[in-house]
Amino acid sequence: MNHTLTGRVVTPDGILDPGWIRVAGDRIDAVGPGEPDGPAQQGSATDLGGQWVLPGFFDMHVHGGGGASFTEGGAAQARQAAGFHRAHGSTRIIASLVTAPLDELEQRTAMLADLADEGVIDGIHLEGPFLSRARCGAQDPRYLLDPDLAAFGRLLAAARGQLRQITIAPELPGAAELIRAAVGAGVVAAAGHTDATAEVTAAAVDAGVTHGTHVFNGMRPLDHRQPGPAGALLDRRVTCEVIADGTHLHDVTIRLAARAAGPGNLVLITDAMGAAGMPDGSYRLGPQHVIVSGGVARLADGAPGAGAIAGSTATMAHVVRHAITAAGLPVADVAAAASTTPARVLGFAGRTGALRPGLAADLVILDPDFRLTAVMARGSWVDGTL
Ligand SMILES: [Zn+2]
Repeated sequence: MNHTLTGRVVTPDGILDPGWIRVAGDRIDAVGPGEPDGPAQQGSATDLGGQWVLPGFFDMHVHGGGGASFTEGGAAQARQAAGFHRAHGSTRIIASLVTAPLDELEQRTAMLADLADEGVIDGIHLEGPFLSRARCGAQDPRYLLDPDLAAFGRLLAAARGQLRQITIAPELPGAAELIRAAVGAGVVAAAGHTDATAEVTAAAVDAGVTHGTHVFNGMRPLDHRQPGPAGALLDRRVTCEVIADGTHLHDVTIRLAARAAGPGNLVLITDAMGAAGMPDGSYRLGPQHVIVSGGVARLADGAPGAGAIAGSTATMAHVVRHAITAAGLPVADVAAAASTTPARVLGFAGRTGALRPGLAADLVILDPDFRLTAVMARGSWVDGTL
């Protein structure tokens, strides 16, 4: 069925205000400025007035939400988490695992690979276990490992082609070999949870790192004489994730990261855990116990690193609105950072991530105040959003 929407349409070539977008089946059929041309318009039409149409969000770093997680529980919980985020604007997600015993990581990877084959998620991100003890944040230090090609090979085999990204601390022994192995397997090698110097981080970029995992969070801080991983990743213009939830980064830091990375290299993520969309209380992030208070998730007392921020409780709808209305980033740049760039990073640019004819009809509608009002995934309105 055809469906035409008119409103402020954010395309890769600019904002059409007013503009229109026509969906045919599960694809975007046409996009244009002004009013849709009459005869071409068949099927239903919706005038959105001053509302915005953006590409559906592609959250490439998310652990859970709506009371369920990818990091614990079974396939039913993973479906619940994916459904929660889809209803909050993420028409595509990469399920992120955290450090856990290798056998468990292997089993979870295999379970998530089945869900990726089904289209519930769009791939897997291994955030661990090859991370820094000094910058482990909410990652359980008991299960951290030095880079190990055999261990990586087991996880890669369990993923059956669905492993899209692995986050590695480049200063660990064997990191360069692991980065090369990941890149050779078609997996994005990202630097994160790292205590590396800027020099070591730059060498990792030369070895194949193309992405920074939640830059500034979980890494040696940027000092004017020791710019660390954040300085090196932004300087080398690799794509850089930021958690623009208003808790993890100051808005000045978000703006500086956006300017330094450039509009094609910033990626907005939630890093959400199971408590996203849920009340304050007691939750888990993989093996770790987490207390959520005032919407901020922290490791519970008694854990090593108690008090560390343990993922976010945000949705992509939240971080997109925060990036526009609080951090003041341009709408078109935010659409790129929330959809187009993550799709490109992960090899999905020919399928989704922009309002362009031929791509999947993945889109979101935001009101004039940038609050989410509806979500369309592969041409179908997501239940409860319109
Ligand atoms: Zn994470």
